[in-house]
Amino acid sequence: MQRTDVNTLGEFGLIEHLTRNFPLQQSSSLKGVGDDAAVMQFGSDCTVVSTDMLVEGIHFDLAYTPLKHLGYKAVSVNVSDIYAMNARPRQITVSLAISNRFSVEALDELYEGIRAACEHYGVDLVGGDTTSSLKGLVISVTAIGQAPETDLVYRNGAQVGDLICITGDLGAAYLGLQLLEREKRIWQENPGVQPDLEEQKYAIGRQLKPEARKDIIEVFRKVDLKPTAMIDISDGLASELFHICRQSKVGALIEESGVPIHPDAQMLALKFKLDPITCALSGGEDYELLFTIKPSDADKIRMLPEIYIAGEIMRAEDGIKLQTKGGNLHELKAQGWTHF
Ligand code: ADP
Ligand code: MG
Repeated sequence: MQRTDVNTLGEFGLIEHLTRNFPLQQSSSLKGVGDDAAVMQFGSDCTVVSTDMLVEGIHFDLAYTPLKHLGYKAVSVNVSDIYAMNARPRQITVSLAISNRFSVEALDELYEGIRAACEHYGVDLVGGDTTSSLKGLVISVTAIGQAPETDLVYRNGAQVGDLICITGDLGAAYLGLQLLEREKRIWQENPGVQPDLEEQKYAIGRQLKPEARKDIIEVFRKVDLKPTAMIDISDGLASELFHICRQSKVGALIEESGVPIHPDAQMLALKFKLDPITCALSGGEDYELLFTIKPSDADKIRMLPEIYIAGEIMRAEDGIKLQTKGGNLHELKAQGWTHF
């Protein structure tokens, strides 16, 4: 028997490999694997479903992640995928694998965060599963959303000439993580020293308590705008842009000056000797939305304070490029993740 290491395929290659022999059999399955959420239609509206798993030691570190924040984040990252379809989340299920290290009080904290998120996003917790694990905590959340079929926005609808838009600043969540990791190392070496993170509230908040952009899809309805393509920014701008370009069969040009970066993130990047734009392109976990619009819709967003135009969709043969502030053109690389 041949043995192929999963790393040779990467996450997306592995998903494609495993799901290659599953043609959709049901006429109600409008969209299967490959977007932010699957889409099903049984009646007049569509149901969208997305699921995400958070694994202790891979996605979170309880040394610096309060369980309440973790619960909130587990819901946020899932409803974010529903918003990325231009749909509204309605229900979630939560499945847990827990080791005997966790007390009822600890799990109550986790659920306090889940409850706060359910209230904030207006979703109902309707089920899940609970089992034991040998080591560590695993949380899997499934989010179910709803939208009329005509509202749904996929990754594959971007067209040459469309404007590329971002809903908020990028890179801070990654820098918050760098800071928490650094404080953890300092604390491990000198347990007496209390970390002082007060000064970097913004970046740490972006990392520990991300908010999914529920407001944005309401704004779209208010100004009567339907993006041509959309994805949420979980792995970094570059990686998400690659998904849109690959599925829409187009290229893209991003202007460095059009990528929003919070002043606190700029400062932190300098402290860590990192390039702020690299953090925005490859950092991930910002949970903003990346979407494209027809140029004729540009006026609809110009008045909106929280939406930034960062570039333009190009022909596939133009590639995916970044124009730096200095005017140089760089080929973007899809980095995204390496979790295995
Ligand atoms: P996101 O980053 O938006 O959460 P992922 O990269 O996790 O999306 O997943 C990409 C697509 O592949 C989604 O449609 C997801 O449902 C699907 N997918 C991921 N893992 C599996 C798997 N093990 N089996 C089937 N489909 C999967
Ligand atoms: Mg997504």
